[in-house]
Amino acid sequence: MVNYLGVHSMRQLVKQVGLAAFLQQLVDAMEHDYRRWESFDKSARHAIHSPGGVIELMPTSDGQMYCFKYVNGHPKNTAEGLLTVTAFGVLADVDTGYPLLVSELTLTTALRTAAMSVLAARHMARKEGPGSRTMALIGNGAQSEFQALAFYHLLGVRELRLFDTDPAATAKLARNLKHLPLQGLTVVPCNSAADAVRGSGIVTTVTADKRNATILTPEMIEPGMHLNAVGGDCPGKTELHPDILRRPDARVVVEFEPQSRIEGEIQQMPADFAVTEFTQVLRGAAPGRNNDQEVTVFDSVGFALEDFSALRTLHALLHTHPHLATPIDLIPQMDNPKDLFGVLHAAPASTTRPRPTIALQEAPTP
Ligand code: NAD
Repeated sequence: MVNYLGVHSMRQLVKQVGLAAFLQQLVDAMEHDYRRWESFDKSARHAIHSPGGVIELMPTSDGQMYCFKYVNGHPKNTAEGLLTVTAFGVLADVDTGYPLLVSELTLTTALRTAAMSVLAARHMARKEGPGSRTMALIGNGAQSEFQALAFYHLLGVRELRLFDTDPAATAKLARNLKHLPLQGLTVVPCNSAADAVRGSGIVTTVTADKRNATILTPEMIEPGMHLNAVGGDCPGKTELHPDILRRPDARVVVEFEPQSRIEGEIQQMPADFAVTEFTQVLRGAAPGRNNDQEVTVFDSVGFALEDFSALRTLHALLHTHPHLATPIDLIPQMDNPKDLFGVLHAAPASTTRPRPTIALQEAPTP
């Protein structure tokens, strides 16, 4: 049996682990995996574009475990009552090729993207000084609470300055945050992106628009700011004015350069534009920031390794929360593996629900 983790169980899992602890586990797993960058089979994701959006497949493997994620990005969807981004994925055992876990990844993508933003900011944002505890959050849709909470819990952000072209989205985010016990957090809805950015040490852009948008323009940028550019993640879909990237004092960090050249903010720049891969920063081979005046840009697009880290975290958590794993008969089980045809003639499956099998499997220990 293959284990399945659906949206309902994922909700329970986050509740039982605790959101802050869950985010921290994702940060730890990603940090561990980004440090062993060479272990991974890496490729730019496979994208099929349509007028309204994109559907992507994101595979990777460390030689022991394999995973892929199916993810879409359709900014027009919210007008029809649908999510912009949905996802699911599979973790498999490389030795046998057998899938181990099929999981929802819509909630997980929001969590892992926020965790990755924090991991990058830990190495790139100023630790102290004016505005270092203040973050502008532009784009207040589905991903925004996850970004807000990750930065609050794991990076000590205590003021959030919100802006969205849809005031109802900002009101929703402010309302959701208000209902949580977030001691010391000040939430300031703003009238424009420029107003939100002013005085913020960290600026997170997480908007969805299928065009080269200019959410941030050069005059908004103050010395020492850290820009966490999350929403630009497709050809023709960016958030930063290219002159921000051209600033002589700008330092741009990407996840996996070949993919970011196609999808990231740097798609606007010439092929020889200098960037640093995040693994270099993490391993001390390159600085995340040189001084307090530098403008740092984490040009986030989302890389398969982050979903690998997330899936192996979920797989391990299901060992300690086995009641949340649902076994599904995705793969035939038989006594004689050469007699696949016999499966068609086997006795009808028992009507009793099979017990979770997760406890019988070993958690991956990379
Ligand atoms: P969403 O549609 O729920 O929310 C996007 C919000 O952006 C909406 O509220 C919209 O009104 C707002 N917006 C659009 N244009 C704007 C503008 N010019 N100024 C201010 N606000 C504006 O989408 P979501 O699920 O929150 O995703 C947000 C973005 O993040 C998407 O573009 C998605 O592709 C991207 N994303 C990136 C990663 C990553 O790893 N980098 C992961 C997940 C999602």
